[in-house]
Amino acid sequence: MTETSLENPAVDPDCIFCQIVAGRIPAEIVHESDKLIAFRDTSPKAPVHVLVVPRQHYRDVRELAFEPQLMSEVVRAAEEIALQEANGDFRLVFNTGASAGQSVFHVHAHVLAGEELAEGAL
Ligand code: C5P
Repeated sequence: MTETSLENPAVDPDCIFCQIVAGRIPAEIVHESDKLIAFRDTSPKAPVHVLVVPRQHYRDVRELAFEPQLMSEVVRAAEEIALQEANGDFRLVFNTGASAGQSVFHVHAHVLAGEELAEGAL
């Protein structure tokens, strides 16, 4: 664990995604490993719209960048999901900060795939 992640709790009891990871809030999980889970976004913006979420609580991708192995696992999970559910092509979006559209402050990668993605899908 890096100094940066030590500044943050591994689990934040007030965080909705920590509660999904813990199984206290339901979600349609499509992929999981010991380090991350992936579940369908409840307001899909593309034919395939899945969120890849590290089990540990990092606020955003700026924090996740201190964990390159985990960051790599997020990308690999996105690739697997896009292959399972579409033709393998995907768009990966990390909204980072409120003014960039981040509304849940537990890092998550939006995996968007399926058919031709509209320019402004997210
Ligand atoms: O990037 P941003 O933080 O706005 O993304 C949060 C996403 O989490 C939204 O797309 C929202 O639909 C999704 N969400 C969800 N299930 C929840 C709460 C939020 O899929 N229980």
